[in-house]
Amino acid sequence: MNATAIGILYIISAMLFVFGIKMLGSAKTARRGNLLSSLGMMIAIVATLAVKGVSFQWILIAGVVGSAVGFVAAKRVQMTEMPELVGLLNGSGGLASLLVAWAEYHSGRLVGLSTFTSVAIILTAIVGAITFTGSLVAYGKLAGKLPGKPILYKGQQIANGALFLLAALFAVLFICKPDGIYLVFILVVLVALVLGVLSTIPVGGADMPVVICLLNSYSGIAACFAGFIINNNVLIVSGSLVGASGLILTQIMCKAMNRSLANVLFSGFGAVTESGAAADGPQGEAKPVSSSDAYHILEAASSVVFVPGYGMAVAQAQHAVRELGEMLEANGTEVTYCIHPVAGRMPGHMNVLLAEANVPYEQLVEPQDSNPAMGMTDVAIVIGANDVVNPAARDDESSPLYGMPIIEVDQARTCIVLKRSLKPGFAGVENPLFFKENTRMLFGDAKATVSDLVSEFKDS
Ligand code: NDP
Repeated sequence: MNATAIGILYIISAMLFVFGIKMLGSAKTARRGNLLSSLGMMIAIVATLAVKGVSFQWILIAGVVGSAVGFVAAKRVQMTEMPELVGLLNGSGGLASLLVAWAEYHSGRLVGLSTFTSVAIILTAIVGAITFTGSLVAYGKLAGKLPGKPILYKGQQIANGALFLLAALFAVLFICKPDGIYLVFILVVLVALVLGVLSTIPVGGADMPVVICLLNSYSGIAACFAGFIINNNVLIVSGSLVGASGLILTQIMCKAMNRSLANVLFSGFGAVTESGAAADGPQGEAKPVSSSDAYHILEAASSVVFVPGYGMAVAQAQHAVRELGEMLEANGTEVTYCIHPVAGRMPGHMNVLLAEANVPYEQLVEPQDSNPAMGMTDVAIVIGANDVVNPAARDDESSPLYGMPIIEVDQARTCIVLKRSLKPGFAGVENPLFFKENTRMLFGDAKATVSDLVSEFKDS
């Protein structure tokens, strides 16, 4: 295939990536957006393989092995394990870019490398290595294979800063003399690998999804740099798209938690919760309610807002929740689903689950739209959510959650909380909501309790 045809195919795939990402912005179009981007990727791969001189043998073997591993992993992964999978995929992206940089250095150093290529090689290697080990740590923390608590020690930031400077120093040495000793390149990679681990361990498990978004962005940036090394336009474009969208998502999530990125990365959030409300222990007596009493409250309500959280994902209660929503509507109740941007363990976690259960998009509302009307809402029913409905985030300046925008379910006339115990959520902060006058606790696995409520409606 000639260069013009390949260039045109690259432009088509870049356009498909852009439209695909745009369509991911709404649950209605997300599936088609995914398909469109995949089509773009297929066109990009075919066009790249059509470049003269590409040897197919190894690419085909690697492609078959990679596709098989990816297919099995995607089929087997549970919805609740999605952030771990994304973490591993980011790590693979970083490693792939690192290997591209290494291979190009290995083959190019004897024939001489331009300064531009040396800069691209060393930047790819550094960002790729940090992404690889950082993602492995993030995966380990989310999968519970590493301690979820932040690992902190004295002088940590100075040590990380010093390592970063060391990597920069070796990088400059490398750029000045790329055909010099091989060891300099290896040292840069080693320091960056260590930096990836050390810069991720101070972040607590609760903040890991934010770090995963950031690492996702890094993997895009590494791919973009790799595109400059091998002079591949579509890799540059797709890498920049991933880099930019990952950064925007990171920013959105930090904003939703009312925290800066620096605070997420360096504050060791989760290690200090004892200083907040958690230290005070339960602040009153919770009022348990039976399924049949909760049914009577719901049956009499003219407006109900569902607030899903991580527990709904654990219980896989989304289908039962949709069924309950339909029962309420049939009973003449106005039903909405209010989704907090950081509910669950990954961005859009609740949207994905509710879309899977075919909850109508029109019923999904955002906290800024739902909160002003909360005082006029008869029942707020919290399904396995905790931190995102914690009033301490609004009322208690000493709480580690203070300042995080919440869904103000405590303002509803009645709030029914479905969870298994009074234990705190992922941030480890005690929740005063459970002890409020208008709160009723419906204890148990969310799928079982929601199904009980559905049965109550069916039997009535
Ligand atoms: P939380 O982790 O605060 O609370 C989830 C609750 O679900 C737990 O308290 C648990 O209580 C309950 N639960 C667990 N399993 C079940 C079950 N089978 N049935 C019923 N209840 C169950 O979740 P939220 O969604 O409210 O908040 C998300 C947290 O994650 C926030 O701290 C947020 O900042 C953080 N986070 C999220 C990100 C994202 O991308 N979404 C990114 C970064 C951080 P019990 O054990 O008593 O049942």
